[in-house]
Amino acid sequence: MNFPSKSSSQSPSLGSCQQGKRTPVEVVQAWIEDFLKTHPTLSGDEAVKLSEAYGRILAKDVIAPISIPHFQRGMMDGFAVRAEDLQGATEEKPVLLERLGLSRPGQGTSLQVQPGTAIQIFTGAPLPDGADTVIPIEHCKPHNDKQTYWEMGVELPAGKHVAEPGEDLMEGSKILAAGRRIRPADVGLLSMLGMKRVPVRQKPKVSLLITGNELLPPGSQPEGFRFADSNGPMLQSLVQRDGAYPLEIKNVIDHPEEVKETLRQTEADLILVSGGTSAGGEDYLPQILKEDGELIFHGIATKPGGPAGIGFWEGKLVFLLPGNPVACYWIYELFVSQIPQRWGGKATKIAYSKSMRRLNQSILSKEGRTDFVRGTLVNGGITPLQIQGGSRLTSIVSADGFLIIPSEVDQLNAGDTTEFYHFENDLL
Ligand code: AMP
Ligand code: MG
Repeated sequence: MNFPSKSSSQSPSLGSCQQGKRTPVEVVQAWIEDFLKTHPTLSGDEAVKLSEAYGRILAKDVIAPISIPHFQRGMMDGFAVRAEDLQGATEEKPVLLERLGLSRPGQGTSLQVQPGTAIQIFTGAPLPDGADTVIPIEHCKPHNDKQTYWEMGVELPAGKHVAEPGEDLMEGSKILAAGRRIRPADVGLLSMLGMKRVPVRQKPKVSLLITGNELLPPGSQPEGFRFADSNGPMLQSLVQRDGAYPLEIKNVIDHPEEVKETLRQTEADLILVSGGTSAGGEDYLPQILKEDGELIFHGIATKPGGPAGIGFWEGKLVFLLPGNPVACYWIYELFVSQIPQRWGGKATKIAYSKSMRRLNQSILSKEGRTDFVRGTLVNGGITPLQIQGGSRLTSIVSADGFLIIPSEVDQLNAGDTTEFYHFENDLL
């Protein structure tokens, strides 16, 4: 997510896994930035249906292949006339014009406006030949019962209430630039331009590997001491938010061969593994990467999320996310989020709105460590939640947002002002 962090004087290479020592967040951030410089994008584009284009990243500039409108069009219900014929007309002294017929939207008319005549027109219909102006119906009154002659009660300049071809958009002009995130009105315009398919950047594919013998598939009822996985569905949602495509969640038991086999089968651009990354007897992931892949970092100075790791498996970037759901969420937001965003062609964007807020209570941290502190807003100030561990997902769900205590700060005091990230606005 690329949260603002103080740049570190340490070189990223110093961040390699060191026994017993946690790497500062800034060092990991710098390493990710370097990685993204050398792996800036996934090259592929694809053409999607118009109905699937919303929210995608445009892969090519759109040059208008036609003008909008592509014909001269009436913009009001009324009469197509020659402005000349309205000269001197007022409500009291209207001019009398003969009605020749009607121009309807989508149809038009083959009739021509001659001096002293008018053709009735509905909004959006083509302007009949000979006319240069539309007089709105509210200035027109039938002169007799047959409605053959009409009284026109206002003088108008030529061109009034007429849209010229290309007035909205001229053929050949560049209207949308590559890299734009496609908005609802863009989709409407692309349709008018006659584009059934839209060239967009391919979404990065993200593999979600969820380890834990205690876990059941998403949405399951508890069975004995086993319970449903929260991290898979949560990561799926985060990955989608960041413009990537989450592959099917793979629930894997805590067995090194099973984990390796699942890793071997993954076809993603980025691999996220949940669980098995701390120091317990079943935490095989760091070892697997060390032996059969590459382990760059293991142990990061952040709370929650300390056991997190980063490495490579068969050349693919792997994040080891702690199984504790809050830690998993935080490590994703802190480090991972920016990668699918960038690869998908989006400028990296923090997913939360921010405001400066006063702290209602002091919070202790530790120098060298970056903390993710959930809080509620009370009287406009931040009250940190009492429970700040990595395990309780309700501490995110019931919070209004969070603040970050950067590594160089060891304490925030009541009354201090700090940036608060709002959960309720977490749409990109
Ligand atoms: P681990 O990182 O595998 O050591 O797991 C740490 C804690 O998080 C344990 O209490 C796990 O039961 C819990 N946990 C691990 N993975 C998940 C998950 N996908 N969903 C919910 N809880 C999890
Ligand atoms: Mg586990």
